[in-house]
Amino acid sequence: LLGADGQLSQTIFAEMSALAVSTGAINLGQGFPDEDGPIEVLDAARKAISDGVNQYPPGNGLPVLRNAISEHQERFYGIEIDPDTEVLATAGATEALAATILALTNEGDEVITLEPFYDAYGAMINYARATHITVPLRAPNFQPNHDDIRAAFSGRTRLIILNSPHNPTGSVLDRETLELVVELAHKYDALIVTDEVYEHITFGHEHIPIASLPGAFDRTISISSGGKTFNTTGWKIGWITAPQPILQAIMAVKQYLTYVNGAPLQHGIAVGLGLPDDYFTGLADGLARKRDTLGAGLRNAGFDVTTPQAGYFIIADAAPLGVTDAAEFCRTLPDLAGVVGIPVTAFVHPGNHGDYNTLIRFAFCKRTDVLDRAAAQLSGMK
Ligand code: PMP
Ligand code: GLN
Repeated sequence: LLGADGQLSQTIFAEMSALAVSTGAINLGQGFPDEDGPIEVLDAARKAISDGVNQYPPGNGLPVLRNAISEHQERFYGIEIDPDTEVLATAGATEALAATILALTNEGDEVITLEPFYDAYGAMINYARATHITVPLRAPNFQPNHDDIRAAFSGRTRLIILNSPHNPTGSVLDRETLELVVELAHKYDALIVTDEVYEHITFGHEHIPIASLPGAFDRTISISSGGKTFNTTGWKIGWITAPQPILQAIMAVKQYLTYVNGAPLQHGIAVGLGLPDDYFTGLADGLARKRDTLGAGLRNAGFDVTTPQAGYFIIADAAPLGVTDAAEFCRTLPDLAGVVGIPVTAFVHPGNHGDYNTLIRFAFCKRTDVLDRAAAQLSGMK
């Protein structure tokens, strides 16, 4: 059972976070915030623990969370979801993805993802012994070419996994692209999996859940998580919304992965999903400012920077600094500048590294003083 890189190795995030700890460098590698989220969310989880919500919750999640997920889908996207039959709480988006891929693919089925792809997709597709087909996202816009999407589908396609807003490139899929995916999913009788963990972190670009498009819901598995929306990445409360027959198959797998997870934390996320609109817009506005701070710092240090439309990450091209191998450069960056970043090749199959060899992903979901310090250290590197 091999990881995305064909090796049974630790993830790039674990390797780079360990490097940050051992060198004392600023960790702009792994994407997690360094500040707590809304107090209401934290207090609700604390209260749930005090109130004795400390045993196994129901297999599909606590009703309070499933209701909140259903109401959130209706409020932000106009999607009507039955909280009792069409929602499943999971151990983060990660378990949602694992259970979905394991439940819905057989050996030899083809699974399409965008590339670069979040590394767990590659590992899970390998675990399922399915075949991984990719659609490239290329600089500077990191949008998929429609002909490449058409070419990726075949009679063997079982799933297409979308990720919008996208990690690592920060791109957001537009309506035309999503419509094409729905059309092709019908034509080839494939299912659509959509990873929307950055759904509330867009910078002036509309996030369109593909499940909201005509003809999509019946074949779409939508996945999200509270981690990015409420600064609770360590809680691992995620969820799936999908039509009942598909969800039942996924639940059958989930029950033997973790069975259930995070009862008191589910109370916290339920409160978060019901927060007023200005919480969600404030989250994106705050991160947009952080994006601009780090972007300016990276440009000043000599990197070519693509401004992301969404998410936690900025892609910087180190080629203007004379770098030809960003993976090697990232291993020396803690010494050179006291900063950790992730080479984009960590999200790309080895045979396709060519277009991505000089690109680095930096996380900007950090306090402004941390970003300022990182920017100053990177500029001092010249
Ligand atoms: N998908 C994407 C695109 C991610 O960036 C992440 C990392 N947060 C995950 C899934 C995993 O989410 P979770 O921590 O909720 O398992
Ligand atoms: N999603 C985060 C990232 O992309 C963390 C991933 C992880 O640690 N597995 O950096």
